[in-house]
Amino acid sequence: MNTLSPISSITLEGRDFFIKRDELIDPYLSGNKYRKLYSLLQTPKNKYNKIISYGGTQSNAMLALAAICREKEWEFIYYTQTLSPIVKEQKYGNYYESLYLGMKTIELERSLYKEYISGLRLNLDDKSLLIDQGGADVSAKAGLEVLASELREQLKDEKFSKLKAIATPSGTGTTALYLALSLPEYTVYTTPCIGSVEYLKEQMQAP
Ligand SMILES: *Cc1c(COP(=O)(O)O)cnc(C)c1O
Repeated sequence: MNTLSPISSITLEGRDFFIKRDELIDPYLSGNKYRKLYSLLQTPKNKYNKIISYGGTQSNAMLALAAICREKEWEFIYYTQTLSPIVKEQKYGNYYESLYLGMKTIELERSLYKEYISGLRLNLDDKSLLIDQGGADVSAKAGLEVLASELREQLKDEKFSKLKAIATPSGTGTTALYLALSLPEYTVYTTPCIGSVEYLKEQMQAP
């Protein structure tokens, strides 16, 4: 696994943009998922025997967890709302690939979903780890600090001397928040790709 991802550049309408190519790190842990799940990747196999998570079946975090669990030989249980027959039969995509990697899905009816998910954390034994939707987790801090120090090192190069801002898309906002905290010398911009600005602010303020 090559962790020091390169920086590419692109010129759009006369302006230079630089792109940190984290999607090249691993085929399954694409983009920021490698960073967010960094601590889990460093965790010894014998610490857990089961990882539990939940969310949608298009999730990149789900696929990343499926890949990690396969490598660590951990059971991976994923809760999701009732799936359409189309999703179940598809022979491509994140859900299909995650099943191939050994994920077990448990479908929950829409009306029971929220309550059931809130109850998950109450019934954990010490060999099971619950990871919130999208891989949002305080342990993401460690991996994003690694990204920040990589960036700080790479951006010392003269060609980046005019760089003042960094932009990243947000799901849970975990990446944007920890990146902004770890790189105070840059302005970090983000935009919600799911939900609203309010949802994002709320997430970032969660304890
Ligand atoms: C997971 C993901 C995001 C969102 O990251 P957060 O840390 O949850 O905000 C954005 N873009 C892509 C491609 C992702 O896979």
